Amino acid sequence: MARYTGPVCKLCRREGEKLFLKGTKCYTEKCPVDRRAYPPGHHGPAQARRRKQSDYALQLREKQKVKRIYGLGEKQFRNLFEKAAVLAGITGANLIVFLESRLDNIVFRMGFAPSRATARQLVRHRHVEVNGRVVDIPSYQVAAGDEVALKAGSRQLSLVEESLESRTRPQLLEWLALDEKNRVGRVVRKPTREDIPLAAQEQLIVELYSK
Ligand code: SF4
Repeated sequence: MARYTGPVCKLCRREGEKLFLKGTKCYTEKCPVDRRAYPPGHHGPAQARRRKQSDYALQLREKQKVKRIYGLGEKQFRNLFEKAAVLAGITGANLIVFLESRLDNIVFRMGFAPSRATARQLVRHRHVEVNGRVVDIPSYQVAAGDEVALKAGSRQLSLVEESLESRTRPQLLEWLALDEKNRVGRVVRKPTREDIPLAAQEQLIVELYSK
């Protein structure tokens, strides 16, 4: 699957807000969103001056924003949406819960990695276990009651230590538990949309995909 490998700060500038794609670095570097508050590219400043966006543009931007925050490609994101749509309940909320339950996101939320991109690498490189077995699939859906841990040989990785000690580390969410010393966490319960600190209007994504 094609994954975006270019400069991630451009993605934040495109969405006009900080998506914190570089993890702790976002707090230490001068953020390009602050310095150049217009979309990237030659026509960026002109786009910023345009006042009104169409409904379609708003829906598209919201979808792109959420997709970029979680680091998914279009096809993967669309597939997850289709899964969310057939479940009972509110499709948008289901989608966000699916995104939040991905293994790479859980590793990030537990503080083992400073960003979702780094968490994905940890998973891919077989540093992470779920219920005692190595899982190297970042999109793996972690369920309530599952234990997520770093492998014995990976617990003292400098990137893990730095991430756990970082001042900018996000607060542990209440549906997660963490034994920081032993690098073991648990999903205490399935989160609801209200439990997930994501500033997004997922209804716009549902409207976009329902056209
Ligand atoms: Fe986004 Fe972080 Fe780059 Fe700022 S520094 S533009 S928040 S990735």
